[in-house]
Amino acid sequence: MKEKLGFIGLGNMGLPMSINLLRAGYEVYGFDTNTKAMEQFIAEGGIGLSTTKELVQHSNVIMTSLPTPQVVEHVFTSEEGILQNAQQGSLLIDFSTVNPELNDELHKKAQSFDLRYLGAPVSGGVIGAINATLTIMVGGEEKDYQSGEKIFGIVGKNIYHLGTSPSIGTRIKLLNNLMIGFYTQAVAETIVLGEKMGISANTLYEVLSNSYGQSRIYERNYLEYMKNENYEPGFSTNLLLKDLRLAKNMADEAGVPLRIGEQLVHLYNDIAAEGYGENDMSAAYLSLKEKCIIKQP
Ligand code: NAD
Repeated sequence: MKEKLGFIGLGNMGLPMSINLLRAGYEVYGFDTNTKAMEQFIAEGGIGLSTTKELVQHSNVIMTSLPTPQVVEHVFTSEEGILQNAQQGSLLIDFSTVNPELNDELHKKAQSFDLRYLGAPVSGGVIGAINATLTIMVGGEEKDYQSGEKIFGIVGKNIYHLGTSPSIGTRIKLLNNLMIGFYTQAVAETIVLGEKMGISANTLYEVLSNSYGQSRIYERNYLEYMKNENYEPGFSTNLLLKDLRLAKNMADEAGVPLRIGEQLVHLYNDIAAEGYGENDMSAAYLSLKEKCIIKQP
């Protein structure tokens, strides 16, 4: 069967991923509720459609990159959604970060509609989506993974088929994002404290890049965002908060107290409430800077 690709959710991640599929020579149908995202997709050669229902009727590999589990559930299970309307045998690949139970539930429901489902969350950020260097953590049946392998190779670089459980990739992805939560706040605290002591953020970065304090998140948050004073997401504080809540639920279920992880949920909740929710997560730095006490000389 000739593959006809559909992509729902053309945001910070979905748009560059779908552009890479277009550049690889695929015909790609796209849908997003945001008109600007649709315009950008069409300008790149994508075929824009106006509803999920219409999209799934035109495609047999349907990909999603949507913000929250609630949106994913709606797009899959509503009457006008993917499950009710997709062509039999279609392959559904969800790149979004959701709760593991949702992956398992959607896989089960997909089977009852004679559809195939893979949970395939990604890591590597917008840069990784643009450069097709994403890490993709796939859970699902081997034959379905094989059907999606070529596509994974186009949008990503490090592809892991982690087992037949549809939620195994998500579990690992949430562990990854728990660490991102730690590192992002660690970078903010380290740089603000350094600056208060008269150490420039540049000098600090140079030295720590060659020390054990180095991390991929330090590199990302500092070089791509803080240094340029640009806090357009990227990966928004709201999305990080969503993932930390999901990681916390996963830990509660496993009976593991997350001593710092739990505090991070409160912390990023406060940062979002201060107005940084739609900013890149690296704005944790701005939030902390505002709280510094001005000492009299
Ligand atoms: P985003 O908010 O930029 O994009 C989501 C897109 O979905 C938006 O364009 C929005 O208009 C669209 N959308 C919302 N509801 C819709 C609906 N009902 N039908 C169709 N489209 C709809 O988010 P993003 O940063 O691209 O993230 C997408 C997913 O990928 C999230 O689950 C996120 O956690 C995950 N993720 C993001 C990053 C990152 O660095 N941004 C990295 C890895 C994983």
